[in-house]
Amino acid sequence: MVKNIVILGAGFAGLKVTQDLTKKLKDPNYNITLIEKSDVHLYRADLYEVATAFNQKITKECLTKLRNTIATPITELVDTNRVKLIKDEVVKIKSREILLKKGKPVKYDYLVVALGSITNYFKIPGLEKYSLPLKDIQDGIAINCHLDQHLQSLWEKKSQKEVNIVIGGGGATGVETATELTSAYKKLCKKYDYPYKKIHIHIIEGQKMLGGMDAKGTKIIKARLKELNVKVHFKSFITKVTAKEITIKDAPEKLPYDILIWTGGVKSNPVVGSKPIEVRPTLQSKDAPSIFAAGDNAFYPDPQNPKQRLPMLARTAFDQGSLIAENIIRNIKGKKLKNYKHASLIYILPLGGRFALLKTQKHLISGRLIWYLRRLIFLKYSLAILPFWKGLRKWAHGTKIFTEND
Ligand SMILES: Cc1cc2nc3c(=O)[nH]c(=O)nc-3n(C[C@H](O)[C@H](O)[C@H](O)COP(=O)(O)OP(=O)(O)OC[C@H]3O[C@@H](n4cnc5c(N)ncnc54)[C@H](O)[C@@H]3O)c2cc1C
Repeated sequence: MVKNIVILGAGFAGLKVTQDLTKKLKDPNYNITLIEKSDVHLYRADLYEVATAFNQKITKECLTKLRNTIATPITELVDTNRVKLIKDEVVKIKSREILLKKGKPVKYDYLVVALGSITNYFKIPGLEKYSLPLKDIQDGIAINCHLDQHLQSLWEKKSQKEVNIVIGGGGATGVETATELTSAYKKLCKKYDYPYKKIHIHIIEGQKMLGGMDAKGTKIIKARLKELNVKVHFKSFITKVTAKEITIKDAPEKLPYDILIWTGGVKSNPVVGSKPIEVRPTLQSKDAPSIFAAGDNAFYPDPQNPKQRLPMLARTAFDQGSLIAENIIRNIKGKKLKNYKHASLIYILPLGGRFALLKTQKHLISGRLIWYLRRLIFLKYSLAILPFWKGLRKWAHGTKIFTEND
């Protein structure tokens, strides 16, 4: 009897499982189904570049080009002769079947849960209503348009007021966005003849660390932020947001703002539950061995700190997707499943313009070369998921657009 392998989500993990199964599982007795709500697969690591890229004119064509830097139609990535692609939203995972928003339920024998995470607003009053999130491609495009329109409207009113751009959250996304905004605003200010000295970029961060780094890394980031004139409010918790002001716990005054970008956290996808799925070393769910979970949806203990999960990173999701494809095939063939081995990763944090910081277990190195190294990582990824020329073109296209304001 034909069996169904169903993959939920075409992000870093889900796409990798689908592509590997397509290549390695030729047995027609196994159907492969991929369910994804979006038309595109997204390279989220460069969302901050999309949010801050410079456009001489905001046109539909220009925004499509911008979107194509990091978003790739799933139909270009998946062999639809082998994979049944369902564009729909998963609303519930049941034992043996998946419920969808629009379509009929889908039965599964093997399930891969790779739906990623969602923005966490921590129930802070006004935050979701008044801030711009940075999680999906439409968020990046919306921020990009908003920055332009905001300055355009000041130029139209002939206003030269002080402008406060606030980034909520000083993790990696917050820091890379804030630093790149300085380059973006230099260009935008020229475009609208606005004095750059009137633009103030702030980061509001609850802890003392920045960019997901330790004290040493934070020191380098602080120096870079100082050089770029980005103000950091450490140990500051946002407690309320209104249309014009941010209330920060214990701060004597409210912070007025023009644009608030929220990068302060993500949480488990509600379809998966309030917590990620606890997995065995084989990445099978502890509760149901025919269900595998990967990436942001999998709770896999961090070898450095076993009470914590592994950091939510693209490379982890990609590697776990690769192992899950292999383990499904092993299971079908009656072979012993392999355990996930977490490789210690290098981590690169862009810090505005062509400058970035690299962190390994032993080293911290910063500079222009590191920024180029990060672009090479995207090239490697593009070539892994796309045919050679398409992958190369995508990389070159993004590099051209992203370096225009550096
Ligand atoms: C702004 C930002 C910057 C980041 N930068 C970096 C970085 O520099 N380096 C790094 O390593 N990591 C980075 N990350 C983290 C990294 O992107 C995630 O850890 C990674 O994407 C997780 O992969 P995944 O496959 O679990 O989920 P995702 O890649 O998020 O994929 C989930 C997929 O599921 C789909 N989906 C969600 N819900 C449903 C539903 N109900 N029905 C159907 N489909 C659904 C989504 O559309 C998406 O395609 C960043 C994340 C963000 C948000």
